[in-house]
Amino acid sequence: MMQAIVLRDRKGGSGAVYGSFERPQPQPGDVLVRLRAASVNRVDVYMRRSGAGITHALPQIMGVDGAGEVAEVHDPQSPLRPGQRVVIYPALACGRCRYCLAGDQLLCLYVRYTGEHRHGTMAEYVSVPAVSVLPIPEGMDFHTAACLPVAYLTAWRMLFCKAQLQPGETVVIIGVGGGVAIAALQLARLAGARAIVTSRHGTKLQHAGAMGATAVIKSLTEDAPRRVLDLTFGHGAEVVIDSVGGPGWGASLKMAARGGRIVTCGATAGSQPGADLQRVFIRQLQIFGSTLGSQEEFRQLLNAVAQGGLRPVIDRVYPLSEAVAALDYLESGEQFGKIVIDIPLAH
Ligand SMILES: [Zn+2]
Repeated sequence: MMQAIVLRDRKGGSGAVYGSFERPQPQPGDVLVRLRAASVNRVDVYMRRSGAGITHALPQIMGVDGAGEVAEVHDPQSPLRPGQRVVIYPALACGRCRYCLAGDQLLCLYVRYTGEHRHGTMAEYVSVPAVSVLPIPEGMDFHTAACLPVAYLTAWRMLFCKAQLQPGETVVIIGVGGGVAIAALQLARLAGARAIVTSRHGTKLQHAGAMGATAVIKSLTEDAPRRVLDLTFGHGAEVVIDSVGGPGWGASLKMAARGGRIVTCGATAGSQPGADLQRVFIRQLQIFGSTLGSQEEFRQLLNAVAQGGLRPVIDRVYPLSEAVAALDYLESGEQFGKIVIDIPLAH
């Protein structure tokens, strides 16, 4: 047996509990990972409340992000060795559908994520295919590694693979405070772009300003599109990163320069905003949907974080035994940065 955060039911949104669960039995091709850190994401809250549209069975161990040490290797072809420090790439593609065969595994018809379709990372152990783990770069700690797979990889793909952000360009990041938005701010600065951030919370804007945001906009009291135009000599931003959606989506469109690139990866404020199609076609805006990133992009991200000395912004660290409180804290929306789960060594 082992300790884990187990989603048992969804009664009142409180069906995730800390307790004992059967230790995983590795299958051929798997590695058993002794987890040392996990981190919390919006999707964990979604899994706890609903999980609709995600094929899975309860009880299930929660957690998409995780890092730890290889405990057992059940794949004779794998170069991994027990004791090696690894981070889990959470998307497992089928390798056989038309999208996988075309090389775009993130569109896989049968993709399965840790903590969504299969047991997750808020546990002492997880068993995953050996191809699903990557070595943690030298000098990177477990907490840092556990922050990267969802938030930082999502931001990486949005900025550099979808929007093709260039040094010197201006990017507006909507709703700074959440994991993806802060990751986007850090990565945009690392790439030499100007980053303007918005938030409803003054304290979050203060933090973002201290982190090197070029300008901050309080979206409740300021006319955000007007401010962006003022800050860009009437031009608008080349790139807008919107992980929020909802009523603010129209403002995101107004902040973009002619021919600007807008990338959406989330809709926590609502998924059916107005479309303003006239603006989209007359100004020839490009709108991209994006989710997570490929394993190769994750490799690039790990290298960039290690070489650039980037430290993920971590708001709070909870021990595994209190991870349910970490979920509650994320749901409150008060956080600035990642919420990490520290997983003590099993006795
Ligand atoms: Zn597939």
